[in-house]
Amino acid sequence: MNKHASILQVKHLKQYYHQGTDKEVKAVDDVSFEIFPGETFGLVGESGSGKSTIGKAIVNLYQPTSGEIIFQDKALSSSYNKKERLKFHKEIQMIFQDPYASLNPRMKVRDIIAEGIDIHGLAQSKEERDEKVNRLLEDVGLTIDHAGRYPHEFSGGQRQRIGIARALAVEPKFIVADEPISALDVSIQAQVVNLLQELKESRGLTYLFIAHDLSMVKYVSDRIAIMNRGRILELAEAEELYANPLHAYTQSLLSAIPLPDPDYERQRQRIHYQVDPEKLAEEILKEVKPNHWLAQ
Ligand code: ADP
Repeated sequence: MNKHASILQVKHLKQYYHQGTDKEVKAVDDVSFEIFPGETFGLVGESGSGKSTIGKAIVNLYQPTSGEIIFQDKALSSSYNKKERLKFHKEIQMIFQDPYASLNPRMKVRDIIAEGIDIHGLAQSKEERDEKVNRLLEDVGLTIDHAGRYPHEFSGGQRQRIGIARALAVEPKFIVADEPISALDVSIQAQVVNLLQELKESRGLTYLFIAHDLSMVKYVSDRIAIMNRGRILELAEAEELYANPLHAYTQSLLSAIPLPDPDYERQRQRIHYQVDPEKLAEEILKEVKPNHWLAQ
């Protein structure tokens, strides 16, 4: 991993939504971080903390209130022409929480996966297109026979594999995985996480991995940022964060993870974290140890 040149930088990102006439929601409130090539960066926080909003800003789905996102040394722009937009979406792809909602129920799997191949003109003939789809199906643990079927014929885990194949079809460098395992049975979650890990290594990918708890991100992330109410409260390397959580909110997220150890479970006590909105508004990230950042 090249620790010096980041592939993505998020700088002072703010996204404020207006709900009704005078209610302003600070979904993302001055968030900055960078992600290095080959890294999996975990973004963790409870529902409503602003994670998806950041993910969507990175895939350029909206114009942020303020701040900047720089991908491969180029600032994202809301005024891309068609060619620039195509180029951008070939390099950054997104995987969604609910694979079923994001797969067109009337399209066969072959055509769902090939959509990006068609848009970007990545196959010169029908044979090449089919060949690419077949290889992608195999790469995500499905079979060639699946190509002619419809999304409803698949289980949740298989649908997520289809979503992953669709994202990979355009050979992206960076993937925003927005809670890719949250809707799956626990027994299937590890399989999908393992698949994402294998693909990352074989294809040299970089991930932003979004999750609402700390149970699975541990196994995939190199570094993790903890979010609450639109802000990052703590950022550290994964092992350091689990061994040495400094923010009370991180501690409360860790205390919520059940472990298959009866002794631990008997003693486990949930820590509840109460946010003080006044205080939160003043918090800024400071480095308290090498590479361990905490809002103070
Ligand atoms: P998370 O992904 O952590 O669950 P989100 O980024 O989806 O959080 O949402 C953060 C906050 O922004 C929430 O309070 C949510 O209700 C609000 N929000 C998200 N999208 C919109 C929108 N399009 N319009 C208004 N408010 C929104």
